[in-house]
Amino acid sequence: MSRAYNFCAGPATLPESVLRQARDEMLDWRGTGMSVMEMSHRSDEFVEIAETAEKDLRELAGVSSDYAVLFMQGGASSQFATIPLNLLGDQSSADYINTGIWSKKAIAEASRYGQVNVAASSEASGFTTIPEQSTWNTRNDAAYLHYTPNETIGGLEYDFVPDSGAVPLVADMSSNMLSRPLDVSKFGVIYAGAQKNIGPSGLVVVIIRKDLLGKAHKETPTMMNYQVIADNDSMYNTPATYSWYLAGLVFKWLKAQGGVKAMGETNLRKAQKLYGFIDANDFYANPIDPRFRSWMNVPFTLADDGLNDEFLKGANARGLLNLKGHRSVGGMRASLYNAMPEAGVDALIAYMTEFARERG
Ligand SMILES: *Cc1c(COP(=O)(O)O)cnc(C)c1O
Repeated sequence: MSRAYNFCAGPATLPESVLRQARDEMLDWRGTGMSVMEMSHRSDEFVEIAETAEKDLRELAGVSSDYAVLFMQGGASSQFATIPLNLLGDQSSADYINTGIWSKKAIAEASRYGQVNVAASSEASGFTTIPEQSTWNTRNDAAYLHYTPNETIGGLEYDFVPDSGAVPLVADMSSNMLSRPLDVSKFGVIYAGAQKNIGPSGLVVVIIRKDLLGKAHKETPTMMNYQVIADNDSMYNTPATYSWYLAGLVFKWLKAQGGVKAMGETNLRKAQKLYGFIDANDFYANPIDPRFRSWMNVPFTLADDGLNDEFLKGANARGLLNLKGHRSVGGMRASLYNAMPEAGVDALIAYMTEFARERG
């Protein structure tokens, strides 16, 4: 059996060693005679798994004790509502930056709970760039400032952390969490759906500054109340135990790779290789302002759209999977998350070279 290179944007490829370990532990987790999936979430064994995962994540991302780490459910999309319900408080409005499809979804959902001020947008450019922060129309009395550090569909990534002053900064890091070093102390809330860089879908990791807890609107569903989830160590109800365990294995793997610093160096090298190739080859193009090109998601088009199907077919035959771009953008997209080995990028470039030579 051979593993393919899976360039899917999400659910995405996981480290092979993590999958092997999960396989080896599937029927009998460390002599307990059962799978992690079958364990009580209140058991000593699972509590240890859960606590170790949190500890490792704190170490990897540099999360201080000023922050709570929550393992919630419903993916990143449920956070689009959870954020305003918990953070709007007495203020009725929040600032949002619109840089693409995920920003827009967050804005649409928040608009159901309060007033949203779109303080900046790159929609006029077709979401190919990020407006300079000096042009943003942010307000000092906003409940929070929300942005999307990496637009997974457009392939657009901030190369800076916005300065939000005293206003809590909220970030949807679903597709670039743990991909490079980060100063968590600049954020009020960081959230990330797990299925890109962390583990299986459904799980969403939330890192929240503790002073932001306890402000939820009174009609907030209990399961969406950060304070309740924090007070119960993310076990107010049955958590997504198996996903939590797998996330823990990924955190251990990341530590063994040298943590986020080493990951950032590898991710930059992988991205530069692919963008460098695309720029040097007339047959391929990427529309994003080079300064803001995503390290994680690389969309590209062929010179002739009529060749897309043939390109994908040839890629599949070589075990280069899921390169089809999002339906809203078209073309191709290669996602290069932490678990995509550099050899996968090399194999993709070799195929693209050959395809352009034969069909270009
Ligand atoms: C994938 C993604 C989401 C949605 O995640 P779900 O877990 O499917 O809800 C939200 N934001 C970003 C930036 C994403 O990449």
